[in-house]
Order: sequence, then C-alpha cells, then structure tokens
Amino acid sequence: MNNRGEAIVLGAGVVGITTAWALVESGWRVRLLDGRGVAQGTSLRNGGQLSYRYVAPLADAGVPMKALRWLFQQDGPLRWRPQFDTGQWQWLGRFIARCNGRDNTLSAQRLARLGQHSRECLQRLMDEHAVQDFGWEQAGKLVVHRSADALRRAAATRDASQREWSAQRCLDEEPALQGLQGRLVGGIYSNDEAVADCHAFCTSLLSRLEAHPHFQGLVLDSVMKLERQGSRVRVHGKAAHHEADATVLATGIASVHLAAPLGLKLPLYPLKGYSLDAPIGPAHTAPRASITDFERKVLYARIGGRLRVAAMVDLVGHDEHIDQRRLASLLRVARADMPQAGDYEQAQPWAGLRPATPSGEPIVGHSGVPGLWLNVGHGALGFTFASATADVLARQMAGQPMPPALDGVSFELKGR
Ligand SMILES: Cc1cc2nc3c(=O)[nH]c(=O)nc-3n(C[C@H](O)[C@H](O)[C@H](O)COP(=O)(O)OP(=O)(O)OC[C@H]3O[C@@H](n4cnc5c(N)ncnc54)[C@H](O)[C@@H]3O)c2cc1C
Repeated sequence: MNNRGEAIVLGAGVVGITTAWALVESGWRVRLLDGRGVAQGTSLRNGGQLSYRYVAPLADAGVPMKALRWLFQQDGPLRWRPQFDTGQWQWLGRFIARCNGRDNTLSAQRLARLGQHSRECLQRLMDEHAVQDFGWEQAGKLVVHRSADALRRAAATRDASQREWSAQRCLDEEPALQGLQGRLVGGIYSNDEAVADCHAFCTSLLSRLEAHPHFQGLVLDSVMKLERQGSRVRVHGKAAHHEADATVLATGIASVHLAAPLGLKLPLYPLKGYSLDAPIGPAHTAPRASITDFERKVLYARIGGRLRVAAMVDLVGHDEHIDQRRLASLLRVARADMPQAGDYEQAQPWAGLRPATPSGEPIVGHSGVPGLWLNVGHGALGFTFASATADVLARQMAGQPMPPALDGVSFELKGR
C-alpha cells in the first residue's frame, strides 16, 4: 500500500467519514476530527434518500416565481427571513442568476454523472468492505403529482425503466396514500432508487475505519481557527493544536466561517430543513417505496422500521433550532397526505442545515491555500453524493485521473 503522508479530515459527517475512508484506502494516514462526534450535524436525521435520478439542482427557470407563491402558502415548503447578512444576499443573487434552463441542464448532467459514480462507490463499500447494517433498501421511489401539467412534464423526461402510474395505480400500490385520494393525478415510479439511515451508515463506516491500519482515530475537538503555516494549515482546536501534511475541510455549513480567515469565500448558505421520525405500529400503513409529494416537496420513507418525513427549505441563517410553527406545519401536511402511515403523536422532530451552493454542485478539490483541501457544499444530496466526492478528492490528492464516469468534469472552487 502507498504511503502518502498524514492527513486530518475536519468534520465527521457523511462527507468527512467517506473522505477519511477514501484517503486511508489511497494510502494516507488519517485522523478524523469533530467537535460533536459522529454524524451529529446535518447527517443525523436527513431524508435518507439515495436519490441517484433526482439530482437536478433547485435553481431552474420559473423557480423565483414559484418561490414567491410558496412564501405566501400557509404550509408552503419555503420560508425566507431577510437578514443583514451579505452572505445571504450574495447567495440569493447567485442562485437567481442560475435560475435558467441552460445552467440547470448543465448542472443536472454533471450531478447525474456524480450520482452514477456515487452509486458504484457505495455498492463497492457494501460488497467489498462489508459496510452494512445501515438500513439500506432498494425499495424504489414514487414521485406523486397533484398537477396534470407537472405530471406531463415529468412523464416526458422519464427513461425507459421508469413507469408512469395513474392515480388509481399509485393508491393500489401504496395504500398509505389514501389521504391524497381525489387530489392525486398520478406518479412516476423508479424501481432502482434506495433509502438508508445516514447516521447508521456513518457509524458503520467508522467501525470499518477503526479496523484500518492507516486510520489514526477519531479526535473529539472543536476547531476554533485555521491558520496558514508555510505549506501546511495549523488547526487550532479547543483542546489542542493539530497539523498534518494535508488538511481536508469537511465541516458542512460551518466551513464558511472556518475558511473565511484564510481568505476563502465559500459560496455556501444554510438551507434549513426539518424531519420527523415516527414509529410504525402494527395498525399503521406505511409506504413500501419512498414517496415524494412533488407539489408539497415532502419526502416519506421507511428507515430502520420507522417513518421518516423530511421537508422544507428555510433561509433563516445559521440557526438550527426547531421552529414550532414549521414543525406543526410539517405534521399537518404529513397527517393530511398519509394519515395512517405512522404514530405522529410519538414523532421525533429534527432540524438540520443543508450546506448549499447556488448551483447545487458540491465543491471538491484544492482550496488554493497550501495544504488545505475542500469537500463541502453537498446541499440537499450529501448522503447521495458523499461516496463519489470522497473518491474524487482522494484521486485529486494522489494526483490520479478522475474516474471515467467523471472524465472532464471538475467540482473545484476555482472559478466559482
Ligand atoms: C431535512 C433534510 C433532509 C435531507 N435529506 C437528504 C436525503 O434524503 N438524501 C441526501 O442525500 N441528502 C439529504 N440531505 C442533505 C444531507 O443531509 C447533507 O448534504 C449532508 O448531511 C451534509 O454532510 P456534511 O458531512 O457535509 O455535513 P454535516 O453532516 O453537518 O457534518 C459536518 C460535521 O462537521 C462538524 N463540525 C462543524 N464545525 C466544526 C468545528 N468547528 N470543529 C469540529 N467539527 C465541526 C459537525 O459536528 C459535523 O459532524 C438532507 C438535509 C436536510 C436538512
């Protein structure tokens, strides 16, 4: 095995842990560092979708007008609290500039290739490295529509393996959708989409890491500051200083503040989302496949024997607290869509911050600061893309070519 030197990966969310794995496999001796432990940030209770087909970025033609309508809907998917924060306004400006068909198509094509590579990398982790017991299930995905126009557009772009189902077929296949009877017009079903528990994936991969001869351990420490030290970066932790030949920043949305003193302006903004985890009892009718309510932008999936409901995009700054009005709104929508799918009285709420770029594309590569590499900005699809971006970064750090699936594609910070 190669010996490339020592690396520190900052952040033990799904992006940091997959990066640490790809690096030990490529020959680096790796320390993983996190202030809170494994997957305690946005990777804790996300929607669990390994959604390789549905990767098109949020920014698209018509989205600003749709967003205006959503802002005025009582249980709408979007909230915006304007703030005295140049980061928020700059991000919004760049996001709106990308709301056109051309940019959306280009990003969607690149992300589809990243997704395809990620599917293969995750499969390898499961098959060759026994990363298991994280609730992975290829249960299929049904995207249900309430508008005939939206369904027509979705049907026009489906591929040969996807099926268009009538409203009745959706209800027959997924009786959990009874709450939507009379409001559904149909759906698109894909049989090869998967779901899994992101937190369980991270703990499973950490146990494989801990058995790896190149892994030097998970260090519990909070990074207070990063500082240039010649060809390296010095990590000032709350408990100690850390230094290595290479440092990888994978601290999700916190990366913005950590990178700023080094002169790096990461184009990331926190898109806050919510999830509910409801027990499924014998009397409940939970969905078999994972289900997306396209108009309401709500995801439903069975994860580890519980019903996971995930939704909402709130632009309210770096604020992780659970807003009781948004929680009540999510519960109302879930009860109306799928009244019998789980025990909503016992549902555990959660909120997390998606570290989003305006383009929806992650940032992977050298930062421009000697010794510092980036793997950030996975937005709404970090679980889906993490296995691929880890592989991409490890190849870059080893000076190796991109995998054939990503030939000619770059996700580097340069030029953004
Ligand atoms: C409601 C919701 C639903 C979602 N659903 C899906 C989905 O279905 N499928 C999908 O693919 N993606 C989904 N996502 C997105 C996905 O969860 C994120 O893209 C992903 O978790 C980001 O991972 P990360 O490792 O970059 O960040 P995080 O998971 O936030 O990890 C960052 C880590 O850095 C650590 N850290 C931060 N600051 C410091 C510091 N100063 N010192 C030390 N450590 C630090 C944190 O403790 C944390 O562990 C969803 C997100 C939300 C909010």
